[in-house]
Amino acid sequence: MDTSKTNNLNSEVEPKQVASAVDPWNSSSHEIKTTNELFIKKDNKLERVEPANFKKIGQGGTSTVYLVKKGVYSGYVIKVYNQALLNKRRGELKNKVKRMIALSPESTELKLETGNVPQFNWPIALVENEKGEFCGLVAPYVNFKKDAYDLTSYLLNINLLEEKHQSITERIQVARNLAGAVSTLHKAGHFFVDMKPQNIFVLKETSTVIFVDCDGFSINGGEFPAHHISPGYIAPEELDNRPEQLSLSSEQDHYALALLIFQLLDYGNKPYACRVHDKSLLDDSEEHTSDNRARKGLYAYGLLPKKGLSPRKESIYQYWPNEIRKLLDQAFTAKSGKNRPSAKKWFNSLHKLVTDWSFEKCSEYPERMNHRHFKGTNCFACEVFNDKSTASNNEEQPKSVGSFSKSKKPPVSTNNSKKGFLKQLRSGNYGLAKTYWLYGVCIGTPGSYLIEILEMKTPILVLCFYLLNVWVGVWRAASDYQGLKLWKWSAKILSFVNIPFLIIIMGVILDSILGSGSNL
Ligand SMILES: [Zn+2]
Repeated sequence: MDTSKTNNLNSEVEPKQVASAVDPWNSSSHEIKTTNELFIKKDNKLERVEPANFKKIGQGGTSTVYLVKKGVYSGYVIKVYNQALLNKRRGELKNKVKRMIALSPESTELKLETGNVPQFNWPIALVENEKGEFCGLVAPYVNFKKDAYDLTSYLLNINLLEEKHQSITERIQVARNLAGAVSTLHKAGHFFVDMKPQNIFVLKETSTVIFVDCDGFSINGGEFPAHHISPGYIAPEELDNRPEQLSLSSEQDHYALALLIFQLLDYGNKPYACRVHDKSLLDDSEEHTSDNRARKGLYAYGLLPKKGLSPRKESIYQYWPNEIRKLLDQAFTAKSGKNRPSAKKWFNSLHKLVTDWSFEKCSEYPERMNHRHFKGTNCFACEVFNDKSTASNNEEQPKSVGSFSKSKKPPVSTNNSKKGFLKQLRSGNYGLAKTYWLYGVCIGTPGSYLIEILEMKTPILVLCFYLLNVWVGVWRAASDYQGLKLWKWSAKILSFVNIPFLIIIMGVILDSILGSGSNL
């Protein structure tokens, strides 16, 4: 029978992924029907937009976004809220959007020499359905995929950015513009509250920033509060409060702004990411979330080092100008939200660095933009990021130098690279695994066999000295090791046995060389 044959075929479809089915009982999963026309309402004038004249370009948890293709609002987007949200908060949302339009910040669009660019994705009109009910808003359209970076990528996927945006000179300007935009928003009486990288875009061309989802902001000093806040970006003293409580002042924004500036300048690193040596500050039984670390004040990047913590080796905080470090200290060690620097303060300090052009080219890679650094300091790309990947014209350039050097010292030259290596090795800076397996086992063991065959005292002495550096390095790296305790303590025991053993052997050989003077 034909029917059963068809059924059989249907039940044996090729296994592959399919989009999830809509839950028929979940009303929030239904987007508003868009086969119907929509009406844009501005200054009491209604503009009809037919379904053929807009197309869907995005969908979020609470709304669907359409691009208007024809008519007066061509080039704008319509954001239509989901039915479930409208059922719950239609009146509040309508009043909020109306208030936003009335209290629009002075420059939702920035007027630049190269043309106007949006600064806030601010609503300009209301949207109604065919029944005359409020259902959404109209906002400017930005082609984020083509013209902008989302701030998350900007902070974390550095290698995917255009070279200009890998440069500290550009990142400082993005930080300055971020502070400028927040300051403008505050001046208009509104607060961002849920300020996080996902709500911010950076325009590639101008390095200006755009705030999106502005209808989630706190409008008019909390008259229409924010309803969301995101972990990792909440001021530590406000962690137990609701977004509505954080909507009443600019303090939450001052914290999130400082955090984003820190991340911009430190290539994604967060101010509370550090190693905790003193377990009384935060032990393993406690949550190691960014919020919990912030609550406990585990800030390792201050002008004064904090006991029991050490900064991440990838951080370049020691290369920042003092005035910036002071502001960051003020933001992350503040006892109260009132003591944090304002957006205006941040803007002025960062803007001064740009107008004074407080930057220098790298002496080794003067053409590379990602090697630009602050005046009066060494190049952090060379010293901390150990970025020597592109072939240099300078043939004297050492192929490999010790990474993560922190001290302000002249660029490493060929002459002291050897000394630098042993010092790094001794300090345990290569980490436990590399110090033990690469420098200890892979290099030390064949070396021992070779020297045993030669039976010469001086090379044995040199090898012992090298291995002494390895074992001191293993001891120190084990002290900092955060992984399995078995490895940590095995490494410590081995170092404890080997260090005195090597010293004794070296003493015996030295004694024998000085005594006999033969068989060198
Ligand atoms: Zn450099």
